[in-house]
Amino acid sequence: MGVKTYSLKKDGNVKLSPNFAVKEFHCNDNSDEIKIDSNLPLLLQQIRDHFNAPVHINSAYRTPAYNAKVGGVSNSYHVKGMAADIVVSGISAKRVAQYAETLSCGGIGWYEGKKFVHIDTRPKRVCWKNSGSNVRKTFSDCPYAEPSSVLRMNTIAHGTAWVQWHLRKLGAKLTIDGKFGVITKAAVISFQKRLGLTTDGVVGEKTRLALKQEVI
Ligand SMILES: [Zn+2]
Repeated sequence: MGVKTYSLKKDGNVKLSPNFAVKEFHCNDNSDEIKIDSNLPLLLQQIRDHFNAPVHINSAYRTPAYNAKVGGVSNSYHVKGMAADIVVSGISAKRVAQYAETLSCGGIGWYEGKKFVHIDTRPKRVCWKNSGSNVRKTFSDCPYAEPSSVLRMNTIAHGTAWVQWHLRKLGAKLTIDGKFGVITKAAVISFQKRLGLTTDGVVGEKTRLALKQEVI
């Protein structure tokens, strides 16, 4: 685990995950040295598998000299071997950014009008739109706050409207009223059934993540 240093010449064809080899992370100035955080190819693999589409890496590792040349910030995660700018074939950058949110990525950068999404493996989640100074909580279109606790029928908790919004997007006929009643519970159960989850009508972490991924 952690960041490892590779040689483009010697290790270029070494596979880091089923679909990603060392050479895909090389610096665009063709330097031999390549730094790669072992978590990065695993994240990209999850994205590849989810969309079942090729992931093209525009830029991953950058030597400090190359980073300076392209005007990158000096503490860039690209220089640390912890970042990749990616394009998923046939999938909009916004959808990629939204899906990345459901994974254990650290930084996720979405640039309106650009095809790539920046993904990095820093320890803490940061999402931004267009520039690093424009930090936002989420790329989701849902106007309601995501639940921060387990939701079940008749509990008054923040986040029920979020669940209802997602269920409606997936075809459930219910009103977004923020009240977790019988109709919401039934819709949760039928969603859980469809996905092969435990059909308890309770929205814990697994069901919450599944709702998020299904709506994207
Ligand atoms: Zn980047």
